[in-house]
Amino acid sequence: MKIIDVHNHPDWHGHNLDKYLANMDANNISQTWLLSWECAYTDYSKSYASKVPAEILGSTTGPIPFSRCISYKERAPERFILGYAPDPRRPDACELLQGAHDIYGAQTCGECKVRMMFDDREYLRLFRRAGKLKMPVTLHLQDEVGDRDAGWHEWWGGDIDTLERILQACPETIFLGHAPGFWIHISGDDLYKTSNYPPVPSKVLPGGRLPELLRKYPNLYCDWSAGSGCRALKRDPVFAKEFIDEFQDKFCYARDYFDTQHQDFIKTLDLPQEILEKIYHKNAERLLTEYK
Ligand SMILES: [Zn+2]
Repeated sequence: MKIIDVHNHPDWHGHNLDKYLANMDANNISQTWLLSWECAYTDYSKSYASKVPAEILGSTTGPIPFSRCISYKERAPERFILGYAPDPRRPDACELLQGAHDIYGAQTCGECKVRMMFDDREYLRLFRRAGKLKMPVTLHLQDEVGDRDAGWHEWWGGDIDTLERILQACPETIFLGHAPGFWIHISGDDLYKTSNYPPVPSKVLPGGRLPELLRKYPNLYCDWSAGSGCRALKRDPVFAKEFIDEFQDKFCYARDYFDTQHQDFIKTLDLPQEILEKIYHKNAERLLTEYK
């Protein structure tokens, strides 16, 4: 079966193009959405320094410059879908997105990961432009957890209410939610106040904001990547099966890394072929075609 990974990055975690393609082949991944990551130097923890190209290249636009995405695309055009999300604080952000689309054929807007609220007017402007260009937007949502006054915390985009506000404010834009502040809300518990990741196993309680938003907003999709996505389903496999069944048209396989944990888990769920086709490639393809 064809497999598309809708979330990964160039030169990420020690991978150059050769290693990357070998990893995709080993995991039967035919295509990857290759996303940039632009933000201010002061936005991100320097624990990322050895995992992103920016520190080595001396990039001034953020940890993963779009130029690295282009480089991969030019060397292996069949294997990659180009994604680009300019830092919305750049005064020319919308024009940069437009240029990436027109000149380089960028098809998605991601990864949006900046230390600012997603419903800031600069972000809304960018999201609306992405909607006009029919580029689905990949969001990294991660709220502060624990004692907020204790010191520097990693956070990106705001909280689950911020997400709801942008879904309402930009109905023409398709959003793919990702990261701890998105997936922790699969369950109607209070875990999101204290933790980024749920214990595995732990029962998913009814009333989670995430299923609620997915039911309510046709423009919200799931990017299943990383530990946050995988753990959200792994914590309660019975619920996981119901969740994928209900949202089979809005759920996309993704990694944000080079491991096999998502595929390994899907195998244990014994899902019907029709659903597997949707989550492994058909939904991703539809986001770039039918959505137009
Ligand atoms: Zn992310």
